[in-house]
Amino acid sequence: MTAQIIDGKSLAQKICSDLKQKISALNGNIPCLAVILVGDDEASRIYVRNKQKKAAEVGIDCHIIELSDSIGENALLETIDELNNNPEVNGIIVQLPLPQHLDTQKIIARISPDKDVDGFTPYNSGLLSSNNPDAFVSATPKGVLAMLQSINVNLCGKHAVVIGRSQIVGRPMGKLLLNHDCTVTITHSHTVDLPSITKTADIIVSACGQPQMIKSSWIKDGAIIIDVGINRTDGKLCGDIDFDDVKNKASYITPVPGGVGPMTIAMLLANTFEAFSRQKSHPQHHCCHGHDCHCSK
Ligand code: NAD
Repeated sequence: MTAQIIDGKSLAQKICSDLKQKISALNGNIPCLAVILVGDDEASRIYVRNKQKKAAEVGIDCHIIELSDSIGENALLETIDELNNNPEVNGIIVQLPLPQHLDTQKIIARISPDKDVDGFTPYNSGLLSSNNPDAFVSATPKGVLAMLQSINVNLCGKHAVVIGRSQIVGRPMGKLLLNHDCTVTITHSHTVDLPSITKTADIIVSACGQPQMIKSSWIKDGAIIIDVGINRTDGKLCGDIDFDDVKNKASYITPVPGGVGPMTIAMLLANTFEAFSRQKSHPQHHCCHGHDCHCSK
C-alpha cells in the first residue's frame, strides 16, 4: 500500500479563496486581526509575517503590535485591554512563546473570549471541553479536523491517538476528536511503551516535536497519519513521522512541509472572519472580567 497524501497546501488555498470571496462581498467592511509580538524571536517574526501575508491575501487587515521583550506584565495586559475595547479589532492573538518573565496563562486569559481567535483562553477551552459549538477552536487542531473531513473518513468509533499534550495542540486536538466521537488516547513524554499504543490507532495525530520518531513498525496497516510536528534537522524541515518509512503502510499521510502548517494559518483567518461575523450580528462585549460584563463600554 502507498498512502495517499493529504495536501494541506491546496486545501488551505481553497479555504482562503472561499474566505476571500466572502470578505470581498462585505463591500469594504473588513475584518481586523491584531497580533501582539513581544521580543525579537526570529521564528516568531517569521510566523507573524506569514500570518500577515496570508491575511492580506484574503482581505483581512492584520495589525502587528511589536513590543519590547522587556515589557512589564501590566503594560502588556493594558495593551490587551485596549484591543479588547476597540470595536475596530475583531480578533486578537498573542504570538507564543512569550519571554520568561511574563505569565503566559495570565496574559492569554485577558483576551476577550469573543476576540480569542486562537481559542487559547480558559473560556474557549472550556467551551470545547463541553462540546459547545460556540467555542473558538485552536487553529492547528481545527485544521487537522478539516484535513480528516476532506478524506471523508467516518470518525465515529475510531481509535485516535494524539501524541503530545500541549495547550495549543495536543489537548485541544484530543477534545475535538472526542467531540467527533473518536475514542481518544492522549500520550506524552511520560507515556510508557508508546509504540504499543500507536499500533492500535486508526488515526495518529503527532505533535511532539521529535524528528521522524514514528516508524512504520509503530503503526497498523491502513492507519491515517497526521503530522503536526515541524522540526529542523541539518537545515531541512521534517515532521515527527518518518514519512518515507511510514508512507508504505499508512492509508493517508500528511507531508511536512505542505501539510498541517498551511491549514493552521487558514483556520486562524477563518476564526477571525467568524469573530467578525459574530460581532456584527451580536455586538455584545465579552470582556476579560467574564462573560457578558459591560464594565468598559
Ligand atoms: P510542546 O513542546 O509544547 O509539546 C510537546 C508535547 O509532546 C508535550 O506534551 C510532550 O510531553 C510531548 N512529547 C515530547 N516528546 C515526546 C515523546 N518522545 N513521546 C511522546 N510525547 C512526547 O510543543 P507544541 O507547541 O505542542 O508543538 C509540537 C510540535 O508541533 C512542534 O514540532 C511544533 O513545531 C509543531 N507545531 C506545528 C504547528 C503547525 O501549524 N503545523 C503548530 C503548532 C506546533
